[in-house]
Amino acid sequence: MTNSLPEMAEIWQQTLNWQPTVQQQSQFQRLYEFILEGNRQLNLTRITDPQEFCEKHLWDSLRGIAPQGKFISSFQDSASVIDIGTGAGFPGIPVTITAPNCTITLMDSTRKKITFIETILNSLALTNAKTLVARAEEIGQQPQHRQAYDIALIRAVGTASVCAEYALPLLKRGGLAIIYRGNWTQDETTALKNAANQLGGIIESIEKFTTPLSQSIRHCVYLRKVATTPIQFPRATGVPTQKPL
Ligand code: SAM
Repeated sequence: MTNSLPEMAEIWQQTLNWQPTVQQQSQFQRLYEFILEGNRQLNLTRITDPQEFCEKHLWDSLRGIAPQGKFISSFQDSASVIDIGTGAGFPGIPVTITAPNCTITLMDSTRKKITFIETILNSLALTNAKTLVARAEEIGQQPQHRQAYDIALIRAVGTASVCAEYALPLLKRGGLAIIYRGNWTQDETTALKNAANQLGGIIESIEKFTTPLSQSIRHCVYLRKVATTPIQFPRATGVPTQKPL
């Protein structure tokens, strides 16, 4: 039998001033069970312990959309969100569960991960998410995706400059890219400033925080799109990682 996830009601309340509804808590539990099951065939995550899953997948995903501990206001409205390189669905699926008014596009270049996510979305009756098998470098040049999103989420996909090149072309002007990181250095800030500048973005804030159970260090970098991204970005597939800005 699968373990139950801890409820963490107090932790949610203290850190995000929010608590999942009974339905959301049961969707988190079902998500956890799917991930454990999916792990048998696909190498999805090494995080399988229920506490760790809660902290490193659920809480971490939601902390990113809550700068300074408050959900960003566009999550109350019908924001259009993309999760770039969603893998097994993080941070995108917890965000989909938590922000029913938003439309979330869960995107990854690996077909089998997206097929797995589609099973989860159907089973959890999550109708506010869409899936997309694609590379960030390609959709950044397609009119139906370029400048189409209010918020881009990106966790564990590449260096911050690479993430910026993937995310900023997809955003509307005024949109926000949220880059999830573990550690962060001053050198990364310098490199990212330079990259963001070329892509029409600025670093709005960098938040350092600790996770609530294991007190691990995390950072979230918030990039605001302030100008149109020049048409040469994103560059062709593979170039952003091989020749980072
Ligand atoms: N975001 C998830 C998480 O934090 O658990 C998954 C992270 S996993 C380490 C990186 C994922 O990004 C992989 O599933 C990979 O297929 C995807 N990916 C890497 N480069 C990509 C690109 N250029 N376009 C789309 N997906 C990409």
